[in-house]
Amino acid sequence: MNVKNPGPVPKISASESNSSLLSARMIEVTSPVDGALLGKVQTADHSMVENSIHAASAAFASWSNVAVKERVQVLFRFKQLVENNLKELAGLVSAENGKTLAEAEAELLKGVEVVEFASSMPQLITGELLEVSAGVNCHTRKFPLGVVAGITPFNFPAMVPMWMFPIALACGNAFILKPSDQVPLTPVRLAELLLDAGLPEGLFQVLQGDRTLVETLLDHPKIQAAAFVGSTPVARQVYARGIAAGKRMLALGGAKNHLVVMPDADLEVTARNVVNSSMGCAGQRCMAASVMLAVGESEEIIRAIVAEAGAIRLGKDMGAVINRSARDRIIGYINRAEQRGIKILLDGRQVIVPGKPGGYYVGPTILDGVTPGDECACDEIFGPVLSIVRVPSLAAALAVENASPYGNAASIYTRDGGTAAHFERQANAGMIGINIGVPVPREPFSFGGWNNSRFGCGDITGHDGISFWTRQKKVTTKWTSAAGRNWMS
Ligand code: NAD
Repeated sequence: MNVKNPGPVPKISASESNSSLLSARMIEVTSPVDGALLGKVQTADHSMVENSIHAASAAFASWSNVAVKERVQVLFRFKQLVENNLKELAGLVSAENGKTLAEAEAELLKGVEVVEFASSMPQLITGELLEVSAGVNCHTRKFPLGVVAGITPFNFPAMVPMWMFPIALACGNAFILKPSDQVPLTPVRLAELLLDAGLPEGLFQVLQGDRTLVETLLDHPKIQAAAFVGSTPVARQVYARGIAAGKRMLALGGAKNHLVVMPDADLEVTARNVVNSSMGCAGQRCMAASVMLAVGESEEIIRAIVAEAGAIRLGKDMGAVINRSARDRIIGYINRAEQRGIKILLDGRQVIVPGKPGGYYVGPTILDGVTPGDECACDEIFGPVLSIVRVPSLAAALAVENASPYGNAASIYTRDGGTAAHFERQANAGMIGINIGVPVPREPFSFGGWNNSRFGCGDITGHDGISFWTRQKKVTTKWTSAAGRNWMS
């Protein structure tokens, strides 16, 4: 039988690639908290990209031959350095992203969890062995891919990169990070700490830039794989471009998460959690529950939620949103909801934060009487806005949740185990919370959504992360003539 050679994967040609459009320019980094100038970073031009990838390839050649038990020693030291410098790092995250110091610390500690997971790589990457026939063994070995890339969003300047590089490096890869140009300083500081921890030069590099740099990396023949985290339209494009260039790709996108509140839910716990989920990090979380599906009689719980959200002190308990255009976009959604006759139970549009006149703040906002088709119930607003949709039953709540094109997270508040089990089975999302408003799985349970919240296979952390950043050999061995004579002999 003739089997046709499928030929090489089509590559995007140099003329289609836009690396020649890259230019080295300075980006000024200002704080969304008060507009203060925090620093400047230089964007990468063509030669910086080539030099970085060249250095990464050279570093990979030796790093991939270092025993995994040695490689993770760097991560043990890195974890210690992040913990020792937690306050300083949290200050940087908070200044360039706008979230509170407490939220910034929490983000760093979530990142450290992945470092801890990756530090266990010697126990996680052992492979399997079986005597498959008398005297014949099969075993598996995972190998790193080479130079790989990560492209990250503004909302978690430390944690999202830390979902990627600890696992990729522990697996033996060299890593190039392209952070959001809104928050370029934290990743540079993490790179310094990795060097301080003893990571050889060239293995972790940060390249600054925008879409053109992302496309250059995706098209580059020396980049073997890329993970992306950001909004859904960009995730879709980035995934398609990387796949077309023959890369292994995983792209996590945006979200519109639903939180179902049953009539039997614990009033106090639910109110606190709903507010925390929708307003934490000023609503700029892919795990934020931004639609509450209030089942049946809900007046009391809604009153408690409004009271809880109303007690948030802007500038203390809640930070700023990332920039002026984010603030204007969020306020635009509230204005249009008002024009449609949606009731505003709590209005965060006209806010003044003392001492921060140059900051981009929106206060907690709660919209009631929203219908499932309203834009505030469907679009990712990415701000501190909770839309309440009143529904008569759990079935009606699930119908709304299931109709969403996203599928990152969904939660339910109830005291009934049967109701919770039904929800767990029927909700159309990758991460489910039962009486938990932000159901981020702890390692080794991996992070990742479904549907338009994720393009590609597998999750970004946990065991899936190891599979993503490695490729596996299956080895069959026979050393003894005592092996039986069969089709394998
Ligand atoms: P974004 O999509 O605008 O940017 C993400 C990254 O892509 C940045 O590094 C940016 O410079 C780059 N980029 C922007 N436009 C591009 C383009 N056209 N082509 C190639 N690269 C491009 O996202 P953002 O505003 O920085 O972050 C917020 C979004 O990220 C939200 O939608 C949020 O839900 C999502 N997010 C998702 C997860 C998740 O795990 N699913 C986690 C965090 C954030």
